[in-house]
Amino acid sequence: MGHTFRILRRRKSIVDERISIRQKKRVGLIKAYFQVSMSCDVVEAPDWPAPEAEVGEKTVFRRMFYFGTIFAFSTITMIGAVTTFFALQWMPVTSYMGLFNTLTFLLWNYLTIGNLFNASFFGPGYVPRGWKPANKEHEKKLQFCVPCDGFKVPRSHHCSKCNRCCMKMDHHCPWINNCVGHRNHQYFLRFLFFSVVGCIHATIIDGFALYHAFFAGWYQRYGDGTEPIILLTMYSFIALIFAIAMATAVALALTFLFVTQLRYVVRNRNGIEDYIHGKSLNMRKVHENDDEEEIEWIKSLGEWTYPYDLGWKRNCREVFIGLFDGRTRGNGTWWPVVEGCTQFTFTIDQLLQKQSKRGRARIITIGEDFDGTCCGSRRFGWKIWAKQPIIDGKCLKVSAGETIVATRGVSGWVYGFRESESRNKGWFPIAITNLKRNGDPKTEESASSEEDKTDDTVSSEEKKDQ
Ligand SMILES: [Zn+2]
Ligand SMILES: [Zn+2]
Repeated sequence: MGHTFRILRRRKSIVDERISIRQKKRVGLIKAYFQVSMSCDVVEAPDWPAPEAEVGEKTVFRRMFYFGTIFAFSTITMIGAVTTFFALQWMPVTSYMGLFNTLTFLLWNYLTIGNLFNASFFGPGYVPRGWKPANKEHEKKLQFCVPCDGFKVPRSHHCSKCNRCCMKMDHHCPWINNCVGHRNHQYFLRFLFFSVVGCIHATIIDGFALYHAFFAGWYQRYGDGTEPIILLTMYSFIALIFAIAMATAVALALTFLFVTQLRYVVRNRNGIEDYIHGKSLNMRKVHENDDEEEIEWIKSLGEWTYPYDLGWKRNCREVFIGLFDGRTRGNGTWWPVVEGCTQFTFTIDQLLQKQSKRGRARIITIGEDFDGTCCGSRRFGWKIWAKQPIIDGKCLKVSAGETIVATRGVSGWVYGFRESESRNKGWFPIAITNLKRNGDPKTEESASSEEDKTDDTVSSEEKKDQ
């Protein structure tokens, strides 16, 4: 008897151990995915004069009366109305549970629409046109924006759709018809969160409604009379199916977006900064074909530290400081940085990248025609076709024998322009170039970026040259 107990106990301890290893692994995976950094010494933002973040010229009406915004609002309203209609039948508000169910669902609706409106209304906070830093010395450390005719504050980028420089810009969102950036970052995150929660709740309500409608006959005959009887007409059936499909699709898509955004928040980055950070690391790598001068230059750059990662807790507080009013911390111009970095660590590296990009651009020869259409790349294989970087700019029509200045590449694709028309940039498959045969270790791997799409940005040095 004692023997059996001992074996059982041992087995239990082995199982416990396995579970704890599995848990540890899971926590490790989450940490690895989010790349969480612990706290570090922070240099607070200086109290230098900062420009007032502007709302922009677009009126509320022009911002809201736009295809994307109308689509977003009508989708939320449609899912909300259909689900409320069925929630009232499935769980009438005469019971406490029913009242609670309907009220919470309506609360998600309110929070989703409210935050969507605020994200669109407040905008990212635009840098005033023609802005200059108070200290003349700082000008050469900042990028210059030609369309805005002013300097870009650190972490800001020019949005070609808003035609303004946006503070801490993440991306231009068609659903809010505005950029996501410094001022509306929390509103945008809350919008994503409540949409996901609301859509999951809607799917549950609609799912149960569909179930009860399906078995309505059975319940009428054999039920005890307490079950909800939901009768569907053809129209309400179509509306129900449509609402379930939309809610599931929205929940899946926005969960993905929300997790990506959270990942940026815990690292105090955004999509563009993630890309620039990658380029900063890449710029410091020595490649096979680099000559001595280039290696010297790379050495002179020193080590790269991303200046805004202040440890995950502080990073979260930067965005979620006003959890109820949606405020984000800071003036959108000067930022707290890691000990050892300055306000201009990031901007100086951006300027260096521009220099380096030009140094690394190469002249390549086209071997085959490419018509620059979406389907034109099919003949290079499904893989190349599926990987065409459509979100990162258009394709470029090129013909055999032409020479192109290539600035960067992603798997299977090269980005470049003709020397005669440097404004007309685009992508074409690497298979039609002479790069494939020779191999090109210098063409950088890159991801999507607002930076390269709008090359209207020049450093202050260059501006003086013009
Ligand atoms: Zn600008
Ligand atoms: Zn924009």
